[in-house]
Amino acid sequence: MGWKLILSLFFIFFSVIMLIIYWFIPYNLVDFEITPRNSNFSLGAITDMQFYSNMRFPNPEISYKISDDCTLQKKRDMEQGLEIIANRTLLDFYPVINNEEISINCESKNKIEEGLFIAGEGGPTNITKTNNFNVILHGQILLIRDSSCQSPNIAIHELLHVLGFDHSLNKQNIMYNISSCGQTIGEDMIYFINEIYKIPSYPDLLFENASAIMRGKYLDVNLSIRNNGLKNSEETEIEIYANDNLIKSIDFDSLEIGYGRAISLSNIWVSQLNSNNLKFIISSDFSELDKENNIAELKIKE
Ligand SMILES: [Zn+2]
Repeated sequence: MGWKLILSLFFIFFSVIMLIIYWFIPYNLVDFEITPRNSNFSLGAITDMQFYSNMRFPNPEISYKISDDCTLQKKRDMEQGLEIIANRTLLDFYPVINNEEISINCESKNKIEEGLFIAGEGGPTNITKTNNFNVILHGQILLIRDSSCQSPNIAIHELLHVLGFDHSLNKQNIMYNISSCGQTIGEDMIYFINEIYKIPSYPDLLFENASAIMRGKYLDVNLSIRNNGLKNSEETEIEIYANDNLIKSIDFDSLEIGYGRAISLSNIWVSQLNSNNLKFIISSDFSELDKENNIAELKIKE
């Protein structure tokens, strides 16, 4: 009888253990990834991360203003979000009273779209297209829901929209269109930000067009110049050479990012005979992204 009792007791004990395992082990949560977590923006093939190509603010130091009607928590979330991005990239953010590049506003009423609560909204609001960049001159963030995560993921998500990033298809990425705790900023986004802000914030004046007509000893010139850079250009001079002799020098006012200006000059006296080689030079004494495009040369037809 002894061994039967032991066997029964063992069986009861075993059943209890199985029940405990059944009730308390969260067998239905075995949804953990088997593959290592990858929070990169692109899943597989590299996709365009930004709304347009090469979007950036003119400077890596970007000003912001958080509206007074934001709650303390939202204000803190936003400041923490700015700090997290600043710590991981070349970017820096500083508060200003007005003329901010990023305006941050708050809304306490819930917003629902397609059955989902909208956590926030954000994006560039003023973009100037140049040859090389889509320069972001202003962006806006609207914080609606408070973040319930340790990391201020809503503020970071909206800030990355302002920096030009679109939604990611990767659920682990902070730019996935439904936010959840644990989403992180992909390494590819950090790399992209650092690459594009490594380029110095210089202007870039260039000749878009240059044409000339010689009538006897008089020259008519049409020029158009654009600033394709990341900074408003300073005042400079445009010099016109005929057979390497300076024949005219014109003051050229500063030009905003993305702006162009046309110049028409007529009846410039050219003393040399057979001036069949004309050269136009933007003789800037400030740094530019590219100085090679500051020269335009023309051959005058006889
Ligand atoms: Zn979004």
